[in-house]
Amino acid sequence: MIDEYDVIIIGGGCSGLSLALHIAKHQSHKKILILESRREYQYDKIWSFWDVEAHPYENQIQHRWSHWQIQHQGCRLIQSSPMYRYCSIPSNCFYKNAMQQIHDLPQINLQMDSPVYHVEESPSYVFVQTKKAIYRGSKVFDSRPDKTETYLYQHFLGWHIMSEHPIFDSKTITLMDFDVDQSKGLHFMYILPFSAHEGLLESTFITPHLHEEQIYENSISDYLKTRFKNPKYQMIRKERGVLPLRTTLPEQNSSKLIPIGAKAGWTRASTGYAFLPIQKAIKKLAFNQQKPAFFNIDLWLDRIFLNFLHDNLQEAPQVFFDLFRKNAPEQLIRFLTGNWSTMDLLQVLFSMPKIPMLKQALRVMTKRGL
Ligand SMILES: Cc1cc2nc3c(=O)[nH]c(=O)nc-3n(C[C@H](O)[C@H](O)[C@H](O)COP(=O)(O)OP(=O)(O)OC[C@H]3O[C@@H](n4cnc5c(N)ncnc54)[C@H](O)[C@@H]3O)c2cc1C
Repeated sequence: MIDEYDVIIIGGGCSGLSLALHIAKHQSHKKILILESRREYQYDKIWSFWDVEAHPYENQIQHRWSHWQIQHQGCRLIQSSPMYRYCSIPSNCFYKNAMQQIHDLPQINLQMDSPVYHVEESPSYVFVQTKKAIYRGSKVFDSRPDKTETYLYQHFLGWHIMSEHPIFDSKTITLMDFDVDQSKGLHFMYILPFSAHEGLLESTFITPHLHEEQIYENSISDYLKTRFKNPKYQMIRKERGVLPLRTTLPEQNSSKLIPIGAKAGWTRASTGYAFLPIQKAIKKLAFNQQKPAFFNIDLWLDRIFLNFLHDNLQEAPQVFFDLFRKNAPEQLIRFLTGNWSTMDLLQVLFSMPKIPMLKQALRVMTKRGL
């Protein structure tokens, strides 16, 4: 017998769980199935973002920072904004909260350890197959990662550590410290200090190819030695991420089988941020506006910027540094998060290297870009 659902969600990660909870709240009559391949959830990441707009997970924010810094060639730029804070939600809180809510929502059936390996669309339904069963859905949302190659990746490995002595400035995050080895591609250190003793240090690269794990590990270890005077610390956990920076969206011809999450292009391609774009896109999806959050001009701008990065990786640290140096913090944050006004947009565009960007814009417009 085939189990039937109004909605089947493939993948119970950030977008899958958020979408299920959103539908359960706004269309409580719908019977929802989530098929997740993992056996259990783990503390695998920390989602961080600027709090530019309201979202349903505000009560799960564990840390808020008022200051951030960028460093390049020994120059440190420290900025803050009374309007926007940088926030973070640990994934274990997010998953735990989602499980608690799902427990109290009989219309959601979450099946762990259920990798989907076949999906087939018929004129009226979509059939979804796992090793254990076949399910029939009126609508299927698919968040399985898109494994096709792309031309640029943001990839990183992070150490979440607890140091014996106070080493972090707990008020200030390090968004990008470019004063690290640049010989293996565009590289920066990203640091979230949770207290004077506890922090996450991520060795982050933007390159066309991925690196061996040892490269990230060595750079974090060197950074701790040189910048924090080789502190004694305990490793709490590690996190690893590979974010394809795509500026082409998947074709979507079906109204019954719909990609969601990173697979649907809900990641801001120029930054790799996805948590808030996912929440924003889910709201739109619920109103049947299926275009992703960063459609049109943001996607077009990202395409120009990524083409520029791809061709000028060595100049990128200076470009990022100048972007923060030349723009008011609020203006740049609105630009980076897709919440800009025309004034913000013009101001930020004028702060970028004009001729190289114009060249890339022409390449993109004439479809000769990447
Ligand atoms: C380590 C890390 C740190 C990040 N930090 C940030 C950040 O600070 N801020 C930010 O905005 N973004 C961040 N991101 C990017 C982005 O927010 C995440 O990738 C986000 O989880 C994307 O949501 P998603 O639902 O598309 O994918 P996921 O959350 O990865 O969900 C996809 C789900 O599908 C499941 N799955 C895969 N294959 C199958 C299958 N065959 N059958 C069933 N289920 C399957 C997976 O197990 C997973 O649970 C980070 C990403 C990583 C990896």
